[in-house]
Amino acid sequence: MAKTGNEIRQQFLDYFVKQQHQLVKSSSVVPADDPSLLFTNAGMVQFKNVFTGQEKRPYNRATTCQKCFRVSGKHNDLENVGRTPRHHTFFEMLGNFSFGDYFKEKAVVFAWEFLTREMGLDPEKLWVSVYTEDDEAARLWESEVGVRPERIVRLGEEENFWAMGDTGPCGPCSEIHIDQGAHMGCGREDCAVGCDCDRFLELWNLVFMQYERDATGKMTPLPRPSIDTGMGLERIAATVQGFTSNYDSDLFTPIMDFTSQLAGVARGADEESDVSLRVIADHARACAVLVGDGVLPSNEGRGYVLRRILRRAARHGRKLGLSGPFLHKVAGVVMDEMRGAYPGLYDSRAFVDKVIISEEERFGETLDTGLKLLSEALAEAKAKGQDVLDGQTAFKLYDTFGFPLDLTMTIVAEEGLGVDEEGFDEAMGQQRSRSRAAWSGSGEHQLPPALAGLRSEGFGTTFTGYEGLTGRDTAA
Ligand code: ATP
Ligand code: MG
Ligand code: MG
Ligand code: MG
Repeated sequence: MAKTGNEIRQQFLDYFVKQQHQLVKSSSVVPADDPSLLFTNAGMVQFKNVFTGQEKRPYNRATTCQKCFRVSGKHNDLENVGRTPRHHTFFEMLGNFSFGDYFKEKAVVFAWEFLTREMGLDPEKLWVSVYTEDDEAARLWESEVGVRPERIVRLGEEENFWAMGDTGPCGPCSEIHIDQGAHMGCGREDCAVGCDCDRFLELWNLVFMQYERDATGKMTPLPRPSIDTGMGLERIAATVQGFTSNYDSDLFTPIMDFTSQLAGVARGADEESDVSLRVIADHARACAVLVGDGVLPSNEGRGYVLRRILRRAARHGRKLGLSGPFLHKVAGVVMDEMRGAYPGLYDSRAFVDKVIISEEERFGETLDTGLKLLSEALAEAKAKGQDVLDGQTAFKLYDTFGFPLDLTMTIVAEEGLGVDEEGFDEAMGQQRSRSRAAWSGSGEHQLPPALAGLRSEGFGTTFTGYEGLTGRDTAA
């Protein structure tokens, strides 16, 4: 029997604890005291100040399994979800960290040993990438763990140089990829590590924090360089279990099987329904974790990301023929599955259930009518030979039917059309000037009665700085 996802998570943490790393709990997906970030998107986020030296901890090595979200800003994988086998909105990042303690040599050895000895991956299938100028890393992969030089690929700044921000700690990265076979590739002659297709799967990224960059761009070597690594649990689990899609791993199959039974749609029956099953599984995980960490649906900031994800899931439910609220049930399966690793989430399941069902009911009332309106408008646009949906209709869907713009854009794109975004903005502007008073959408910023009072109990966040109202991704 192959290892389960839960076992792999535990084995990773145990391995690094054995190497004198302090086991640290995942921080919330809502970053503490970091207004520059909508969601925690990597394991290092909770250690930022430790890396810069502003904060001291009683340990200089740590290991975590961090809850991560990549749905905004620099890392936005939302549109990839369900379409690629390796991207999720929510995922767990396994990591080991050195705060001025060990550096490249040990990091390389730990990672290689974990993958080949602990996980039993075939070294013959592994490739590594290093930053173009990082001769030291290339040499270490060869001398310390015996990677053949032809398996070491050099990649540029875009792929393999990491920086905390415009200034501050930065340095080269090195990634471990697994060759999943030529049949998974794009078939292009130059398909190699770093290609966007599914042949070479990036498993693990090792960041070598080695310099401090100042405002002029000058890089000074750090006196005590650090290590920050991240490996997606879903990817390593699928790989170890012999699959090329994360969704075939046991972290996802119970969730997808549940939805499949609920909808009476078999897995593997048809590509479109499979996409829906995958998206729903991803989004159910995301919604459970977001609400579990205190995010409530709203028309702004984090709450709007939750609302957008939930509404996308609701629409995929309709595609599978599910009528009425269902996502809370799927989220229930998620929380059962995650119970061992996240007991706190399991304990708050009654609350999570209430929040999700209430948002599902809220949107359910207008979803079907909105979908009907949209399909009529699409048919009309097509009949007229137009390649865009007019902005007025997109705005009406947004304003009256609660369709985030990105949801409308996704549905429209599936039909091969675009949305007239300028027209949408214009309609929004007209609406705003019509209602002189502060614009309040369709009143959706107010929580339904069942949830009123939760905000005052400390749930929900009011971050407004980085996400537009509409569901467009506006952050840099
Ligand atoms: P990719 O190139 O596949 O998008 P990345 O280079 O953006 O990945 P990193 O920022 O290096 O990812 O994050 C470290 C690790 O986290 C990756 O090597 C991968 O295993 C995992 N990971 C990154 N993004 C996702 C995601 N959206 N879903 C699942 N796992 C992810
Ligand atoms: Mg990425
Ligand atoms: Mg990458
Ligand atoms: Mg990477």
